[in-house]
Amino acid sequence: MIIVMKPQASEQSIRAVTKYIEDNGLQVHLSKGEEVTIIGMVGDKSKLSTENLVIFKDVDRIVPVTESYKLANKKFHPQPTTVQVGNTSIGPDSLTIMAGPCAVETEKQLLLIAEEVKKAGATILRGGAYKPRTSPYSFQGLEEEGLRYMQEAKAATGLSTICEVVSLEAIEAAVKYVDMIQIGARNMQNFILLKEAGQSGLPVLLKRGLSATIDEWLNAAEYIIAEGNPNVVLCERGIRTFETATRNTLDLSAVPVLRSRTHLPIIVDPSHSTGSYKYVAPMAKAAVACNADGLMIEVHNDPAHALSDGPQSLTFGKFAALTDELKPFCQIMGRSFRD
Ligand code: PEP
Ligand code: MN
Repeated sequence: MIIVMKPQASEQSIRAVTKYIEDNGLQVHLSKGEEVTIIGMVGDKSKLSTENLVIFKDVDRIVPVTESYKLANKKFHPQPTTVQVGNTSIGPDSLTIMAGPCAVETEKQLLLIAEEVKKAGATILRGGAYKPRTSPYSFQGLEEEGLRYMQEAKAATGLSTICEVVSLEAIEAAVKYVDMIQIGARNMQNFILLKEAGQSGLPVLLKRGLSATIDEWLNAAEYIIAEGNPNVVLCERGIRTFETATRNTLDLSAVPVLRSRTHLPIIVDPSHSTGSYKYVAPMAKAAVACNADGLMIEVHNDPAHALSDGPQSLTFGKFAALTDELKPFCQIMGRSFRD
């Protein structure tokens, strides 16, 4: 349930409504726009006669929120959210590019990739230190040592950093070294991990589950925000369909659908969705054209010898060519491209 206040409602009127809600044991979430203030209500509404709220001064209307996710809901918070990640941000004005290897392999490899992706316009370095691999015999990641290399790469280049976490132990390590944590597709509905990510204090990139609906995905985001962490970014990374020509099917329609339902930033991962370096560039351009706030792209110095996801990794040359080609798309969409 949300209470929409009249334009120019006084502070006193707003306080009277929030006090009434809180006095009845519910939580208040305030969203102050330029014109209108929206008061969101979370909790057990059976304790409150919500219809009485129309009597309060400067209340315009009361709107029921039928979706089970509230804090992630655009009705609660009509303005788009900008999420700060280290010294950069993800939001409506710019196109933020996260790039780097699927897995952190060596210190030298990571530093080299960090320098090259920065030159081409990325502002966030990605690199997996905990790899949730389909096969238990595949490379599982360097764990804390990999996180240390991420921290070194940040110090050397000034890039912000993101790393996937798969356990509470990984979260506890990641908070010491990186600027953002990632919950991967395979853990999107690991509710205990989501709550722990919500308590970590770091911004969270929440990837869409392999078979998750948009509603399930937004509820997963709600778990994180409900722990007091509003800094959630959603990442469309393809879903499982009957099609086998690509690794997954990139659901780009999720971008405008999410845009209509949530205020959270939305980015697209054309690497894991297509599984082939050949399709990364066209889908990256399409993602910018449908108004994504950013991209996550896998880049490797030597894809043929990558320990993970070589076939979808771009070489330095291909990545630089792509970021160049993205600039006119950003211009059309009214987004700045940091380089
Ligand atoms: C990744 O980004 O390294 C990754 C494993 O992605 P996803 O969870 O989307 O498969
Ligand atoms: Mn990967």
